[in-house]
Amino acid sequence: MRYAARVIHVLPPHVARLIAAGEVVSRPLDVVRELVDNALDAGATRIEVEVEEGGLRVVRVRDNGVGIPAESVALAAVRHATSKLPPDVSAVESVTTLGFRGEALWAAAQAGHLHLVTRPAAQVGAAEVHAHAEDVQVGRTSAPAGTTVAVSGLFGALPARLRTQLPPASEVREITALLGRYVLHHPAVHWRVTVDGEARVTHAPADHRGAVASVYGPVSANRVLAVEAGGVRGVVSRPELTRARRDRMHFSVNGRPVQAPPELEKAVIEGYAELLPAGVAPLCVLDLTVAPGDHNPNVHPAKQTVALADLPGVAARVRSAVAAALAAHPLARLAPALS
Ligand code: ADP
Ligand code: MG
Repeated sequence: MRYAARVIHVLPPHVARLIAAGEVVSRPLDVVRELVDNALDAGATRIEVEVEEGGLRVVRVRDNGVGIPAESVALAAVRHATSKLPPDVSAVESVTTLGFRGEALWAAAQAGHLHLVTRPAAQVGAAEVHAHAEDVQVGRTSAPAGTTVAVSGLFGALPARLRTQLPPASEVREITALLGRYVLHHPAVHWRVTVDGEARVTHAPADHRGAVASVYGPVSANRVLAVEAGGVRGVVSRPELTRARRDRMHFSVNGRPVQAPPELEKAVIEGYAELLPAGVAPLCVLDLTVAPGDHNPNVHPAKQTVALADLPGVAARVRSAVAAALAAHPLARLAPALS
């Protein structure tokens, strides 16, 4: 049978749907990332994330962003429905939002139960949607301006998927680390992260240094220098604040926290020149701005790896921005002798 020629059949829609949704949402962390991306795309200045039982019981994200107009709410959880791309092929090359595929809410509603409540500030009364699989119910309610999306009972109908999930404590660790990166790269937002009812991350609007304080504590925050040159913004640590691993080197590209290519980490280290002892890494939080057409966030469904069209050029910008920041703070040069 194994080597026999076999007929091809088209999968029933509900099976195809679950497989496709699984590409976008395969674990609670994916739901957190997608909902937070939506809140940032909505211009929120306040984002609250609640996670229960490792996110399998519920992931809830509340924002004070622009909301969804009542007449569009029924489309929010429809596949390939988005407000972020005009229906025009050329627009795909110039997306500036974190989302653009119109798949996240749809996928969340396949993997679990989606409840969305939303109200644009100028609209009287809020709209709500309950969505699960093909069942979508729209209603009216009242709510503050902004949007709250809750995804509950993730993978309740998919025992095999449920069995392969990390233990809740491990998933929470990764979710908290991810949200820490969002805080670092979006420090002007008021963040609050609650895990099983307990506050894990709170961050009041600040600059990058303030975000380092929220995530790594005031000692680290007092040892960073501002970087701002050539489309590279953020902070780097003074040379005395080093790590054996590169685990505190953070990059975002056009607002999206990304897994940086090693070339960019290397460029930062080169920016220190002889100031940094060999084999150690600094702390850095760097937001890179590139032309929308110069990077492709599509290489991975989770959009966490980026393909930069001009990686050497971006690396050169990073190297010189870091070098300039260190040169502007002569104390940074004395610091190793003082510590
Ligand atoms: P995408 O973000 O790729 O457009 P989603 O499935 O994540 O797809 O969301 C579908 C649409 O729902 C978005 O395009 C947006 O119009 C709306 N939406 C989702 N979340 C929010 C939110 N938090 N605030 C405002 N609008 C939202
Ligand atoms: Mg989205």
